[in-house]
Amino acid sequence: MDLNNKNCLICESSEIDERLQKLRDSNSISVLSCRSCGHSFLNSFGHINDAYFERGQFLLNKDYIDGVEDRRRHYEYENQNRFERIGPLIINKDVLDFGCGVGSLMEKIKPLAKTVEGVEPTDPFREHVQSQGYACHAAIDDAIGPYDFISVFHVLEHIPDPIAVLRDLSGKLSPNGLLYVEVPNVNDALVSLYDIEACLSFNFFKDHLHYFSRHSLGLAIAKAGLKAAGISGHNRFGLANHMYWLRYGKPGGHLEWSFLETPSLAREYARALAAMDISDSLVAQIRLAEK
Ligand SMILES: [Zn+2]
Repeated sequence: MDLNNKNCLICESSEIDERLQKLRDSNSISVLSCRSCGHSFLNSFGHINDAYFERGQFLLNKDYIDGVEDRRRHYEYENQNRFERIGPLIINKDVLDFGCGVGSLMEKIKPLAKTVEGVEPTDPFREHVQSQGYACHAAIDDAIGPYDFISVFHVLEHIPDPIAVLRDLSGKLSPNGLLYVEVPNVNDALVSLYDIEACLSFNFFKDHLHYFSRHSLGLAIAKAGLKAAGISGHNRFGLANHMYWLRYGKPGGHLEWSFLETPSLAREYARALAAMDISDSLVAQIRLAEK
């Protein structure tokens, strides 16, 4: 793999600009943006090697998450939200959670699904999941399947070749299976609308190699030989988080100001952002293309 990216990694266009924003954790890597499909990506993947994922080297950046329990607590808010969305889709299904971390979502899936397995390259996480009695594989090639439902929550952006991974995952789907992919949206309102200085310098970091636009995600799916029934906007974090960023220049509002997250307000705010394509995440529900 060429470690210095020149053309767009999704649409291959050479019309590339360097973004003004820098990474929060590196001065030597810059962020490129494709004029054609709106995809952003790091100019170099040289820091990515097997140890980066296998030994959890990337976790060294995250000193606020120490160990399995901290991780579980930190992601509980999101995992519960993810589970509420996919719950109706996994009843009595064979499920694979790709990039399952410490298995928190798998625990929620287990009572509803027929079976649940995980894929997790980071050794200590995978070993923890296995110690809880789950089948958890180091790589997609080790998972046999087929699976009726494969979830890929905020994983594709970490992977050097997301098109290849989509293709590999589709090979593990049952004929009527569903691949449920969620990635961060490069046009997140915090950056594209509110233009918050602190957020701009927080947004890009070494772990995220790719920053998908709606267009580039659709293109990646098509290039993998797949078809998305639709790509919708989703907000991991809503009004409380955004107000808190505007006031204090940092995340955490979803916990500190949770009173702002009434269901109807959250719904309407999410709808307004999605209509402008500035939700913080994009969700694609993908099925195998008809032969
Ligand atoms: Zn492009």
